[in-house]
Amino acid sequence: MNFELTDDQDMFVSAAKKLSQSRLTPILQRHPSDRPLPKEAMLEIYGALGDFGITAARLPAEHGGAGLSMIDYGLVIEQLPPVIALSLISHDGSITRLHAGASAELREAYLPDLIAGRKIACTANSEPEAGSDSNAIRTRLEVEGPDAYITGRKLWITNASVCDVMIVSCAVGLDAGDRPITSRVLVDRSQADVDISEIPLTGLKQGHLSEVVFDRTRVPSANIIGSPGDAGKYMTLAWNGNRPLLGMMAVGIAQRALDIAREYVGVRQQFGKHLGNHQLVQQDLADIETAVISSRLMCFFALGCLDQGTRANGTSAMAKRFATKNALRAVDLAMQLHGAMGIAEEVGLDQLWRDVRVLQVPDGTMGILALIQGRELTGAAAFR
Ligand SMILES: Cc1cc2nc3c(=O)[nH]c(=O)nc-3n(C[C@H](O)[C@H](O)[C@H](O)COP(=O)(O)OP(=O)(O)OC[C@H]3O[C@@H](n4cnc5c(N)ncnc54)[C@H](O)[C@@H]3O)c2cc1C
Repeated sequence: MNFELTDDQDMFVSAAKKLSQSRLTPILQRHPSDRPLPKEAMLEIYGALGDFGITAARLPAEHGGAGLSMIDYGLVIEQLPPVIALSLISHDGSITRLHAGASAELREAYLPDLIAGRKIACTANSEPEAGSDSNAIRTRLEVEGPDAYITGRKLWITNASVCDVMIVSCAVGLDAGDRPITSRVLVDRSQADVDISEIPLTGLKQGHLSEVVFDRTRVPSANIIGSPGDAGKYMTLAWNGNRPLLGMMAVGIAQRALDIAREYVGVRQQFGKHLGNHQLVQQDLADIETAVISSRLMCFFALGCLDQGTRANGTSAMAKRFATKNALRAVDLAMQLHGAMGIAEEVGLDQLWRDVRVLQVPDGTMGILALIQGRELTGAAAFR
């Protein structure tokens, strides 16, 4: 067992840090911090991510992707601004889902631009009545010869308002138990009529989260990906990978809180000495660092299980729940160490707090993650 990064991983982390500092953060800083970025800014960001070679991080190299190990991907994700990391996880996951099961024509038509970062992808699965219970999908896909028609509403879709390509989960019928049989269909926004409205959020405010309405939206039947009933399987695979990646986003936020707090207690004085010299302040700092390191290790463990192909349903859920909960606590402690400055916008801790709170919802709420782990421990699914 070795807890050190390899030299290659060290170089990779430094390069990702540099990408963030020199190319990505300046784009974010040029735009209002409380509003979704315009599409041109997103394309600039994707251009930079494409140059770095991580727009299709999980797609094997022989298919044009980066073919990164999940641990290496997690290392990069920790270094990216959270709003960009969440968008990238959606884009890259959508590419992987498109690749798995799409016809050669669809792959050829869409993958090169998506991989180069010239186009942006998203996945629309959740609905107003199908959140944690993704078996409750109602959006219908009706196939009529060469055309197919989508009718329904999708909710909380990352990247939707800036995407070019959407992978939409739809019900194509009901099985013997009256549960929807779900399929995936590609929607090309330049060819389809879709109504998209942005939903303002507590955090990650420069990102994009939308409601999408399909009203007998026409798509070619040839855009159907895979076989009927396989959408759930691919969503589960994606969630297992995404959860520790979101955990690594939380680790990045907690690390930032630690850096800010360490700097502050080294300069702020009360009762005649630096805050950092008071015993209780050192205890808070120790708690923040413990949160950062334990969460990072937990995420590495889950990402390592995925790399080794061992079952990761429980460990992935555990990693995201543990890391996001710890990061929220770490940011809260850092705010506490700043007194009034902790809640002043100029320090930036409030943004970290709002951003990490948002991360507790996508790809499994805290409750659902606990139930997934519980199912692994007991063999009993306690969802219903
Ligand atoms: C930032 C962000 C990005 C997202 N991106 C996407 C995306 O790109 N594509 C997409 O399809 N979706 C996306 N989502 C949607 C996300 O997957 C859902 O919000 C999530 O699955 C929860 O569904 P819900 O919000 O409807 O909550 P609900 O399912 O209504 O849950 C509400 C509460 O009830 C609890 N609960 C639910 N069922 C149970 C149960 N059986 N037992 C105990 N407690 C339960 C939950 O834990 C939660 O606390 C995103 C959401 C966010 C916030």
